[in-house]
Amino acid sequence: MTETPALPTNPSGNGKLVVFAAPSGAGKTTLVRHVLAVLGNHIAFSVSATTRKQRASEINGKDYYFISHAEFVQKINNNEFLEWQEVYDGNFYGTLKSEIERIWQQGKAVIFDVDVEGAFNIKNIYPHNTLTVFVKPPSIKAIRERLIGRNSETNEMLEKRIEKAVFELQYETRFDIVLLNDKIDEAKAKATEIVSGFLQRKPEMP
Ligand code: ADP
Ligand code: 5GP
Repeated sequence: MTETPALPTNPSGNGKLVVFAAPSGAGKTTLVRHVLAVLGNHIAFSVSATTRKQRASEINGKDYYFISHAEFVQKINNNEFLEWQEVYDGNFYGTLKSEIERIWQQGKAVIFDVDVEGAFNIKNIYPHNTLTVFVKPPSIKAIRERLIGRNSETNEMLEKRIEKAVFELQYETRFDIVLLNDKIDEAKAKATEIVSGFLQRKPEMP
């Protein structure tokens, strides 16, 4: 029998978590990549596991761990996830405890790109030293245009993502910070400023 992984413990000083969440197409992947490019010496990306199909632009092990449905279920049963969600019908996504351990052991903070529910779950598990950032699109119309521009979805998935976006937009007030992503250069600068300010803050002791 495999051993159940314990909840990663928050080491004093280095155990910060920054959670970016947003409706699909709002631009969180773009902003998280930018933050990592600027602050990569201090913060690293929690690579989630997913059962969704890999996009041509994605690298397995860097953007996601692309795994089968059976492997995902096995990881749920082994208690390997900090949190997981069936974000879209039949598509599962989850944060692996091992990712947080790996990154904290490097002495870095962790940055996540998860859905709104995942963000609240992470904040509930680690109420201290977690910053939740909601990336807000200028409009639903902009999300639609960006998703069409990204050319990653079938028509059916596009509509599902927009439907969920309308739902998720209701939750922005429950985040620590709302970051408007209208003009991309301004949003990138703001994202870096927010994360770097948080990393410089004195850690909160539980
Ligand atoms: P998410 O990770 O939230 O689904 P992405 O970062 O993949 O979103 O962005 C969706 C698409 O929109 C991408 O093609 C990206 O290049 C584009 N995009 C992101 N931010 C902006 C912006 N401010 N203005 C125009 N296009 C953007
Ligand atoms: P995408 O398919 O566009 O990469 O991601 C779809 C949605 O799943 C996005 O909102 C993304 O943030 C979310 N997501 C990615 N990984 C995780 C995860 O580990 N947990 C949760 N809860 N959501 C995730």
